[in-house]
Amino acid sequence: MSISGLLITVMLSAQEWNPASTEWYSPEPPAVKPGKTPGQPPSDAIVLFDGKDLSKWVSGKGEEAKWKVVNGEMVVVPGTGAIKTKGYFGDCQLHVEFKSPPAEKHNGQNRGNSGIFLQSIYELQVLDGDNNPTYVNGMVGSIYKQSAPSANAYTKNGEWQVYDVYWKAPKFGAAGVLEEPARITVTLNGVLIQNNYEVKGHTAYTGLPEYHAHGRLPLMLQDHGTAVAFRNIWIRNL
Ligand code: MG
Repeated sequence: MSISGLLITVMLSAQEWNPASTEWYSPEPPAVKPGKTPGQPPSDAIVLFDGKDLSKWVSGKGEEAKWKVVNGEMVVVPGTGAIKTKGYFGDCQLHVEFKSPPAEKHNGQNRGNSGIFLQSIYELQVLDGDNNPTYVNGMVGSIYKQSAPSANAYTKNGEWQVYDVYWKAPKFGAAGVLEEPARITVTLNGVLIQNNYEVKGHTAYTGLPEYHAHGRLPLMLQDHGTAVAFRNIWIRNL
């Protein structure tokens, strides 16, 4: 049958359909209570940091996390290394707020550098974006060395910055072959800056991105030598 013949057939049969034949009632989506104000964790979120302690975190080596908690903020202690969640995650929605330390004499990649590593491997850059030129695929909001953000929505040094991240984990076949690359959507302070970006592989400092098969992994936060502060971190498994 030709395409036009097929279309006519579909149009004719559509007229015979009952509207109810294209409506479904199950599975019913679960009820989720939103946070009281935007940015607060909804009822089904796993709260990773609520201002009190690092009980959901360990060091990169799996030992006690050495960052400090001050005034409800979790602050990088330079030189103590990255921290990662005890929990393992795949597809997720993630909320993170961060604040850059005083700029002092630091510039570019040395000013307020940290990072949010989805599944410990794929870095969404955390950097001071207030009048701080650097390579654009390494600025705040970049997927490090892969994708520059479509806008710089960072406000001012010293102010809290709000990331919301929507992550689709990469899928690997039985033999470890990549079947579906990861995809990431990000808003910074409510502004869309990464729109369903197809991640090319790990976010390497040197060399090109590659994929190596993995399953669910911890969320990791980077120690890049500056005292970046974090608060209100929560995640929803999808
Ligand atoms: Mg970084």
